[in-house]
Amino acid sequence: MSGATASAGCATTPVLRERGQHEVFCGLTGIVWLHRKIQDAFFLVVGSRTCAHLLQSAAGVMIFAEPRFATAIIEERDLAGLADCNAELDRVATRLLERRPDIRLLFLVGSCPSEVIKLDLARAAQRLSQRFSPAVRVLNYSGSGIETTFTQGEDACLTALVPEMPAEPGTARSLLVVGALAEVVEDQMLRHFAALGVGPVRFLPGRRAAELPAVGPGTRYLLAQPFLGDTARALESRGATRIAAPFPLGAEGTTRWLRAAAEAWGCDESRIRAVTEPGEQRARAALGRHREQLAGRSIFFFPDSQLEIPLARFLAREMDMRPIEVGTPYLHRSHMAEELAMLPEGTRLSEGQHVDRQLDRCRDANPDLTVCGLGLANPLEAEGFATKWSIELVFTPIQGYDQAGDLAGLFARPLVRRTRLEL
Ligand code: SF4
Repeated sequence: MSGATASAGCATTPVLRERGQHEVFCGLTGIVWLHRKIQDAFFLVVGSRTCAHLLQSAAGVMIFAEPRFATAIIEERDLAGLADCNAELDRVATRLLERRPDIRLLFLVGSCPSEVIKLDLARAAQRLSQRFSPAVRVLNYSGSGIETTFTQGEDACLTALVPEMPAEPGTARSLLVVGALAEVVEDQMLRHFAALGVGPVRFLPGRRAAELPAVGPGTRYLLAQPFLGDTARALESRGATRIAAPFPLGAEGTTRWLRAAAEAWGCDESRIRAVTEPGEQRARAALGRHREQLAGRSIFFFPDSQLEIPLARFLAREMDMRPIEVGTPYLHRSHMAEELAMLPEGTRLSEGQHVDRQLDRCRDANPDLTVCGLGLANPLEAEGFATKWSIELVFTPIQGYDQAGDLAGLFARPLVRRTRLEL
C-alpha cells in the first residue's frame, strides 16, 4: 500500500500502449442507463439490425408500457439515394413525436453502417428541431463502434447537451456534478454538499430535458464518472473550471471527492470532518464485511469502461487487493492524476488493447479475479478464471459512502461463488 508513504504511486509509471483487435461494446450501450436517467428523452438509433439486437440484449428484460429507445433500421433496403434516406428518417421521427407528446428531447444516435455514416444527422437534428420547436429539442451524437467504446456513448451524449445549456448570468458560482448517477446517489451527494455549504449544486444530465443546468465562468465542475473527456472540454469552452479530485468510489474516494469541492468553497476543516466522518465510518464498516474474501487476492483488469483505474485504486487501498494489470481503453492523464498517484507502485498500466497479447499476459499472471467485458468472460471462465463483468459496474449504483459495501460485494461475489463450487 502506498498510502502511508510519500510515494507517487503510478503517477510516472510508463504505460503499455496497445493497438490491435479489441473486445469492447460500442457507445450505444450508454443508452441503457441514459434513457433511465433523462426521463423525458428518447433515443432513436439510426442503425442496423445488429444495433437493435445489441440494445435489446444489453437492456435485458425490461418491460415498458412506452419504451424510450428504438432503432430506425436503414440497412438492407433498396435505397434510391440519400434524399430518400433523409425523408425516411424524418418520417420515422415525425411519427414517433406525434404519437408520443411526452418526449421533450430526442437524440438521433449514429452507428456504423455506411448508409448511416453518409447521413448528416446533425442537419437532420436541426431540421427536426425547427419543425417541432419549442415542444421538442432534437440533438444528435454518435454511438458508433468505429468511434466510441462502451462508456464513450455517455460522453458523446453529454457533449451534445453542453451547447444547449443556458448561460449562467455574471460570475454566479455553482457546482456542476457531471456524469449520470443513480438518483439515490444524487440525493445522498446533495445532502453532503448542503451540509458542507457547497451550492447551488446541479447535475448533468438532469432528470428532465427542461432541467438543463446553467453554465458560465463561475461554474466549478466535479466529474462523477471518469470517461467524460469530451464533455469536460465542452464545459471548459463555456467557461467552467474543473475541480481536480479522485472519483467517489469507496470511503476514501468519496471523502476526497467531497473534500475537493468543500475546499473550493472555503469550507473549514472541522466542518469537512464533521460531515464526512459518519459516512466514512458507515462505509468502512460495510467494506469490512467483504475484506476477508478480497484481501491479498490479485486482480487483472481488461480495458472496457474507463472505470478501471479508480476501481483498482479502491480495491488496492481499501480492500488490500493486488492489482496486476489495469487496462483502460483510454487514459486521460489529467483527469486521472489523483487516481494514478494513489495506485500501488508496480501495477502495470495498459491503454488500448491487443486482445491476444493481453490474454497471454492474463494467463501468465493467473489472477484470482479478472474484470472484463462479456465477450471475454465466458472463454476465461471456461479456462478456470473467476471473472467479473465490467458492465455491471456501470449499471449498478456504486458511488458514495452508502454504496461502498455493494461495490466491494460485486467483486467478492464471483470469488465466493467459486469457493462454493469448489467445496
Ligand atoms: Fe451498431 Fe456499430 Fe454498435 Fe454494432 S458496433 S451495434 S453496428 S453501432
